[in-house]
Amino acid sequence: MINLKEYEAWFVTGSQHLYGEETLKQVADDSQKIVKALSESPNIPVKIVFKNVLTTPEEIYKLCLEANAAPNCVGLITWMHTFSPSKMWIAGLKILQKPFVHFHTQFNREIPWGNIDMDFMNLNQSAHGGREFGFICTRMKLNRKVVVGYWQDQDAQEELATWMRAACAWHDTQGAKIARFGDNMREVAVTEGDKVEAQFRLGYSVNGYGVGELVDFVSKVTDSAIDKQIALYLETYHISKAVSESENLQHELREAAKIELGMRAFLEAGNFKGFTTTFEDLYGLEQLPGLAVQRLMADGYGFGAEGDWKTAALVRAMKVMSAGLKGGTSFMEDYTYHLDPKKMKVLGAHMLEVCASISDGQPSLEVHPLSIGGKADPARLVFNVRTGKALNATLIDLGNRFRMIVNKVEVVPPDAPLPKLPVARVVWVPEPNLKVAAAAWILAGGAHHTGFSQSVTAEHLEDFADMANIEYLLIDNDTKIREFKKELRFNEVYYSMR
Ligand code: MN
Repeated sequence: MINLKEYEAWFVTGSQHLYGEETLKQVADDSQKIVKALSESPNIPVKIVFKNVLTTPEEIYKLCLEANAAPNCVGLITWMHTFSPSKMWIAGLKILQKPFVHFHTQFNREIPWGNIDMDFMNLNQSAHGGREFGFICTRMKLNRKVVVGYWQDQDAQEELATWMRAACAWHDTQGAKIARFGDNMREVAVTEGDKVEAQFRLGYSVNGYGVGELVDFVSKVTDSAIDKQIALYLETYHISKAVSESENLQHELREAAKIELGMRAFLEAGNFKGFTTTFEDLYGLEQLPGLAVQRLMADGYGFGAEGDWKTAALVRAMKVMSAGLKGGTSFMEDYTYHLDPKKMKVLGAHMLEVCASISDGQPSLEVHPLSIGGKADPARLVFNVRTGKALNATLIDLGNRFRMIVNKVEVVPPDAPLPKLPVARVVWVPEPNLKVAAAAWILAGGAHHTGFSQSVTAEHLEDFADMANIEYLLIDNDTKIREFKKELRFNEVYYSMR
C-alpha cells in the first residue's frame, strides 16, 4: 500500500554567473555525481532527481513553481556548491509550498593542503555559500532541516533519508481522508479537536460516517469470501485451541472476517488512509472490530480508537515515514503500570486494536468476551512485542495550536508470562524513567492514545513537526522536569505571539 519509490526529492544546486561557464559546468557535473551517489545509496528511500544549477532569481522562482505543481515531488534538497547571493532566492522561497532540506556539504572532502590554489577556493565555497543561503531562510522565518556532513558519509545520508521519509509522510498527509465511524467516545476530551484547523494546518480531512453505512458494506460480504478469508487466517496465525474446538467461537471468527472485508471495501471505495471506531457506536455490527482493525493497520491504514482521528492520522503518517524499515508501528495506549521502585514500567495495550507489525513471532488468533460495550465476543490477535528501542508519539489540540509530544522508550520482556491477558501487549520502560516521563507527558497534556513505533525515530517526527509547523516536545534521557516546565512556559509565549 505504501511505496516510497514513487516519490521524488529534487536536488537543487545554487550558484551564480560570476564564475564563468567552465566553473558552472564543473558545478553541474559535481552535482550530478552527488545525485548519482545518493540515488545508488541503500540509505535513500526516494528517487533523487537532478535539477539544473540555478543562477538567477527567475530560474529559482520557476523551479519552485514547478516543485509545487509536481505531484510526486515531496521536497527540495538545496545545496550551495559555490556562493549564491541569496536575494535571488527570496521570490522562489516565498512561494515554495514543499518542504526543503539545506544540505551543507562540500564536493571535496579534504583540503588538498599541498596543492590548494584560488581555483580550488573558487569552486569549493559551500562553507560561506551555505551561510548566505541560511541567512535568507532564517530572515524569512522558514522551517527547514540543515544537514551538515560529507555527501558520501553514512551519517549525512541517513539524516537526509530521515528528512525524506518525513517529507513523504507530509506529502501523503496532504489531501488524506480519515473516516470516522460513529463519533467520539462520549465525554472524552483529548480525542476531540478542531477538524477544520487540522485540515487547514495539517492537510487531512476527517468526516463522520454512520455505522449503518459500514454495516451495508459488511452485509454484502459473501460466504465464499468469508471462507477464503478464514483460510488466509489459518495460514497466517496460530489459531487458539478454543476456537478450533468451538462452533460458537468459529461463528464469531466468521463474523470478524465479514467485518474486516466490509470495512476494507468501505475504505477502498472512499480512498481513505485512516479511520476511527468507537465501542459506544457499533449499531448493527455484531462485535467490536478487533481483528479487522489490527489487519488493516498492518496494511498501512492509520487508526485511532474511540473516535481519535488525530491519532489515526498520526499513525498513518508514521506508517509512511517508516515504510520499508525494520520494526512496526501501531496505535497504542498506556494501559496499566508496574510501580516496582526498582524498575517502573508501563504495560501498553488496547481493548483489541494493536497492529501485528510489532508482534514478536506469530500472533495467536483468539476469541474472547469483551467486558465493555455489550456486544458479541470479538476476535483478536494476541502477541507480545519485540524488545528494544521504541517511542510513543501523540498529537493534541491546545486550542491555539497543535502540539506533538514524543517519548523514547525501551521495550522489555514482561516479568512473567501473561496467560490470562487475551490482548496484544507490550511492556516498556520510558526514558529517562517512568516518574519523570509520565510527569512530563502529563504536564504537556499528552493523550493516553499514541502512535507507538519501533522503526520511526524522534528525528523523523521532529522533521515532520517542522514541516507541519507545529510544536514539538521530546521526552528522553536529557529531560528534567524543571527545565521541561520552562520549555512549556516559553513555548506558551512563543505560540501566543505568532
Ligand atoms: Mn482508548
